[in-house]
Amino acid sequence: MVVVVGGGTAGITVAARLRKAGVEDITVIDPAGTHHYQPLWTLVGGGRAPLHKSARPQASVMPKGVNWVRRAAAGVEPEAHEVRLDDGTTIGYDRLVVCPGIQLDWHKIPGLTESLSGRVSSNYAAELAPKTWELIKSTRRGTAVFAMPAGPIKCAGAPQKICYLAADYWRRQGARVATHLVLPTPGLFGVKEFADVLAGVVRRYGITTHFASEVTEVRADAVVINGQTLPCTMAHLVPPQSAPDWIKASTLAGASGYVEVDRHTLRHVKYPDIFALGDAAATPNSKTGAAIRKQAPVVVANLLASMRGEQLTARYNGYASCPLTTAKRRVVLAEFDYDLRPTPSLPVNTAKERLDMWYLKRYGLPFFYWNLMLRGLA
Ligand SMILES: Cc1cc2nc3c(=O)[nH]c(=O)nc-3n(C[C@H](O)[C@H](O)[C@H](O)COP(=O)(O)OP(=O)(O)OC[C@H]3O[C@@H](n4cnc5c(N)ncnc54)[C@H](O)[C@@H]3O)c2cc1C
Repeated sequence: MVVVVGGGTAGITVAARLRKAGVEDITVIDPAGTHHYQPLWTLVGGGRAPLHKSARPQASVMPKGVNWVRRAAAGVEPEAHEVRLDDGTTIGYDRLVVCPGIQLDWHKIPGLTESLSGRVSSNYAAELAPKTWELIKSTRRGTAVFAMPAGPIKCAGAPQKICYLAADYWRRQGARVATHLVLPTPGLFGVKEFADVLAGVVRRYGITTHFASEVTEVRADAVVINGQTLPCTMAHLVPPQSAPDWIKASTLAGASGYVEVDRHTLRHVKYPDIFALGDAAATPNSKTGAAIRKQAPVVVANLLASMRGEQLTARYNGYASCPLTTAKRRVVLAEFDYDLRPTPSLPVNTAKERLDMWYLKRYGLPFFYWNLMLRGLA
């Protein structure tokens, strides 16, 4: 039996591909009744898409013939080949795929949780994304802060994307909002080609950047950045993130707390019957759904090879992509690998702001996700 922990982007894609490959005995463990297409939350927060388009019942995306256990995994016993559930029961496996996503650590920034009932929002929670748009619309003057926390997060571009959508909206409305972008990184993007384009975007909107900086506390009508208090009218903040606590506490975790798999084969470095992918894996790629699109076929090919007792030959090269929304109808599509080398997959120059990439992000990719990727067809 193949057991998959987590029925998000990675879990459903892998389960669908395993079914297509003829594997009959598959169990997906996931307590959530709703499946989310999280990349749309940026557009919801920017007033460019309705929230309901990002969610479908989990039952509707679960591949036919897969046994769905609606519980949370609480531990893995690799020696016993068992997953422990939150009700104390266990499920045995021959091969295990671990992909429960990343944990949002809201509590790690003092004042953040409390501030979410005021003029602070975050596209990192489905229910808050519409509020981001309400805040953007109702802000006409004052100071707005958009910040990214230190450490790995899912879609590291998302904290910037919403900043540019807001700045573009305010410019069109003639609103005078001093906009601050706070990033823990030394620059706007790790790949020079895309960093240069984003530098132009920042100049166009007159955004004040704070590099190597982070919000360390949220107070009433102010945020603290590197020990300095910056009063603000609204803020879009992103919670620090880490591996799920139960993974951190397990023997599956490496030093980072994430599931320690080989970065190319995606097989666990200590337990040959365990694979991991997606946000919970310790691979040093950008944590995105786009990465999972390339990881899932590798996991499935290598898992099947391991069942046949063959060498693992499929390799993941660290591919990730990030559609950076820079204006109401403009997107820069950044595609790159482990070496931060641009790896374009389309026959056009996507390292500039494009209308066609906007349509790809708004309509093409959601269609691709629901109809092809989650069905194991692409
Ligand atoms: C605002 C935002 C914008 C983004 N934009 C983009 C983008 O433009 N492009 C892009 O490619 N990616 C983007 N992403 C990132 C992308 O959504 C994630 O990288 C992707 O969903 C990760 O897939 P996953 O399967 O690892 O985790 P998830 O899709 O988060 O799924 C994890 C699943 O595991 C389940 N689970 C959790 N704990 C347990 C447990 N203990 N036991 C069993 N099941 C459990 C959950 O219920 C969930 O169903 C964005 C994310 C956000 C938040």
